[in-house]
Amino acid sequence: MEFCPNDGTRLKVRQVRLETKSISALACDKCGFYRKTDKAVSKSEELETSSIKVVGAAEEKIKTMPTTTIECPKCKHTTAFWWMLQTRGGDEPTTQFFRCENCGHTWRQYA
Ligand SMILES: [Zn+2]
Ligand SMILES: [Zn+2]
Repeated sequence: MEFCPNDGTRLKVRQVRLETKSISALACDKCGFYRKTDKAVSKSEELETSSIKVVGAAEEKIKTMPTTTIECPKCKHTTAFWWMLQTRGGDEPTTQFFRCENCGHTWRQYA
């Protein structure tokens, strides 16, 4: 067990994200002090830190969406990301959205 030299808080093994990489470190939750370690981060702690991680912009999310072959009404590109959205009320039809992989044009289609 190790303690923070600044305030005596018990150091915990954490994933510390530096500018280009993330390292395992013994870190103080109080003042942010950390020291590199070779200890592996336990699953639960890893989850904890990744949940703090700010979720990227919506654009980032869209990049992980499935694509389909459909013609973009704007640029005639034939691949688009798609996702489904149910507008409020279960009796309303599900709306399918498409976003052109090429020009980013987004349009909808009722199922
Ligand atoms: Zn500290
Ligand atoms: Zn397009």
